[in-house]
Amino acid sequence: MSRAETKARSLLEKTGMDQIPVPVEKIAEGLGVKLRYEPFEGDISGMLFRDEQRTIIGVNSRESLARQRFTISHEIGHLLLHRGRPMFVEKHVHVNLRDSRSSTATNQEEIEANQFAAELLMPNSAVRREALKRLTKGVPSSGEEPGGTGGTSRAAPRCCGRSAWR
Ligand SMILES: [Zn+2]
Repeated sequence: MSRAETKARSLLEKTGMDQIPVPVEKIAEGLGVKLRYEPFEGDISGMLFRDEQRTIIGVNSRESLARQRFTISHEIGHLLLHRGRPMFVEKHVHVNLRDSRSSTATNQEEIEANQFAAELLMPNSAVRREALKRLTKGVPSSGEEPGGTGGTSRAAPRCCGRSAWR
């Protein structure tokens, strides 16, 4: 696992917010970040600005929600991984969750921020847990008969036994 992925995972563990969809906005706020949604012109997806007093993540509100979430996660990555630089401006953060290397992210910091964002938005463990939950949903875990033990006289209402399957 890369440094960026490790960082994302430990942030999820620390905050306990590793349920899909991961509330990246809440995580940002928890880190003291102010989120600003603005309809940026051109090909700017977002930006990170920080000084001693504040940290601001600007998000292009014209872009899709999925993209906005990715931008926020990407900026959190810069925030935690790349200290020292006061400002990052993103020109079209590439939403390519599992293939950040082959996107046009050229420099190391951008690659790391993308890796971080991918792991933050789709943590492997949460993806597996969610899949298992869907798979087992509605399937009773015990071998109990629907309808219980009664039912000596009224046969008809017992037919479906839906209650046990809700
Ligand atoms: Zn970046």
